[in-house]
Amino acid sequence: MKEGYVAEDLRQEVSPEDMEKINQYTRRPYEPEEVYVFSMVLCDNRVDRDGERFPIASLEKLRELFLGKTCIFEHDRANGNQAARIFDTALMEDPEELSEGGEPLTQLTARAYLPRTKGNEETIARIDSGMLKEVSVSCAVARRVCSLCGKEDCEHLPGEDIGGEIVHQLLLEPTDAYECSFVAVPAQKGAGVTKRYGQGPGRGLRRLEEEARWGRKYRESLTAQVLKYSALVQPELPREVMKSAVKGLSMGELRAMGRTYERMAQKALPLRPQLSGGKDVTEPSVGNRAYKI
Ligand SMILES: [Zn+2]
Repeated sequence: MKEGYVAEDLRQEVSPEDMEKINQYTRRPYEPEEVYVFSMVLCDNRVDRDGERFPIASLEKLRELFLGKTCIFEHDRANGNQAARIFDTALMEDPEELSEGGEPLTQLTARAYLPRTKGNEETIARIDSGMLKEVSVSCAVARRVCSLCGKEDCEHLPGEDIGGEIVHQLLLEPTDAYECSFVAVPAQKGAGVTKRYGQGPGRGLRRLEEEARWGRKYRESLTAQVLKYSALVQPELPREVMKSAVKGLSMGELRAMGRTYERMAQKALPLRPQLSGGKDVTEPSVGNRAYKI
């Protein structure tokens, strides 16, 4: 499950090309004034809070798979299952920013429509007012591999820093995309946060939030590393003392400390090298295993 969001698209008007696409899904031809169109960012190619990342090739496949899929509004089950349909998808690339994989930052965007019926009025107002903007997106991928070694099963932990590279999981070969759903959020959450395409302040904020989440994971993994090696190097020092001692350190200091302890620990006792031994026999892959994301 991934989180997308409604984007404040500057292009609110519906073009004749849009109507052609929309009318592929309707039983009779609709006129532009009969539909409400909005945009979403479904996902991108950055490492998310689960420590996972879609490379651009996966986003390209998802772009095809999400076409025609519906987005349901969970807050209003009483009113029947209202749903918007995705009629257009695109990849938006920002060549000036890079994802963790070194690719240009790329977002999978979607445009969806809702018929302007009486029953949809409230939903439309909720989207326009920003009350509805978080979208849960899910799909299935055939393979999930380690960003460091490319294997499906390995001992590298997401968030772990190995030789300066932070391990994450790559989500490869999407096989299916499921309907997305809007999650009603309390009005305060995200108050004042406007998400936009392009260089809006909203996107900056969202990026900061993601970096903060990712940063926390990274910090936890660095702390765990320091505690592990410090227990080997100075076993007489209580873990709790060490734990509170590292709390005030910056990420850089924590990383330096982890490396120093690691070297000290390696001198003190022979450790198994991280990249070999025990795991070098490739396990046979399990056929057709799919991961629901
Ligand atoms: Zn690995």
